[in-house]
Amino acid sequence: MDMYIKWKRLTRILEKICERPTFITLTNHDFSGGHGDAISAVVFNTEHAEILINSHEAKSLTKVIRALAHEAAHVVLGNANHNKVFNKKWNSLTNLIEEEYLRKV
Ligand SMILES: [Zn+2]
Repeated sequence: MDMYIKWKRLTRILEKICERPTFITLTNHDFSGGHGDAISAVVFNTEHAEILINSHEAKSLTKVIRALAHEAAHVVLGNANHNKVFNKKWNSLTNLIEEEYLRKV
């Protein structure tokens, strides 16, 4: 795996999945609320999606892809639920993003 994260490439992959302009924003906001392991959040409507990631936690590609897939699953499913359907979508999107990211162009 590369030593740095290709954010532009990730953004293109996310836009394909979310089917709308998608922005990835790094922030120092703590999404865990002092507990739990949340490192990201998403705001979206039919026009766009904005995924926020805690920059202190965005240090490994695996962690970033898992967070992006989590938020993209909310966008694709159109809700904020964390249930079985969500977990299935989260896992499949994690694999998809990983595959697309590593694919040779
Ligand atoms: Zn969530």
